[in-house]
Amino acid sequence: MTEHVYSCSDISTAQPSVVALFVSDVHLSADIPATTHAFLQFLQGPARAAQALYLMGDMFEYWVGDDDINDPYHQSICAALHDCTNAGVRLYWIHGNRDFLVGAEFADRCGLQLLPETQSLRAGDKTIVITHGDAECTGDLAYMQFRKQVRNSQWQQQFLSQPLEKRRDIAKQMRAQSQQKQSAAMVLSDVDEDAVSSLAEAHQADILIHGHTHRPALHQYADFSRYVLPDWDCDHATSPRGGWLALLSDGSLQAYDVHGEAIQLPVNRHTA
Ligand code: MN
Repeated sequence: MTEHVYSCSDISTAQPSVVALFVSDVHLSADIPATTHAFLQFLQGPARAAQALYLMGDMFEYWVGDDDINDPYHQSICAALHDCTNAGVRLYWIHGNRDFLVGAEFADRCGLQLLPETQSLRAGDKTIVITHGDAECTGDLAYMQFRKQVRNSQWQQQFLSQPLEKRRDIAKQMRAQSQQKQSAAMVLSDVDEDAVSSLAEAHQADILIHGHTHRPALHQYADFSRYVLPDWDCDHATSPRGGWLALLSDGSLQAYDVHGEAIQLPVNRHTA
């Protein structure tokens, strides 16, 4: 794994600049115009100040294959991502559990680079490890089984060999099923504490950043910190939801809400 290196110094400056931004779980689809608008505003505004933008999974509600890129909605997202690249921001993509079929053609058309499931970043003297977060939900056995199946290249080839229309139908059915399940259980699985601590240990991480669970927070452990990114929803929620995390040039991390206002994340201290 090639580490991404950023020089961050602890020397406090009056106005630290933005080094990298982290965002996930926007769940983009043509059905959510207000959320789409908010995300496009983010790409045209705050994102432009960063050296790098990490798109960390479930950016799309679903993705049935790169041959669906000519859909007008997908084209508009793709163009907005490419504009960001053209403005000098390096764009990186980590797959989520909904858009794991995003491939090389999509990446090429948007001017972004696909990353492995887990990416390590060096920020000054700190190691930051980023991942979507679904692989750490090891307590959800049914999901882990499903994940193993759909991340298998043979399964993916077989799925992608079906006509585009059929794949869209399958995705629609799966979304309806998962919405039913979610409204019945009312909760998304959270990450497993053992899984996150092994991940931090394996990479000697000082900081983990992930999304997926829709539980934005800062978790503090004895040896590392864990930042959880928010999901976005400006179409259904009573107050618009979303936001991102920024790595600043002084090495600090700052959370922003969907309007771009700096916010404090709820802090959860874990004692061993
Ligand atoms: Mn997810």
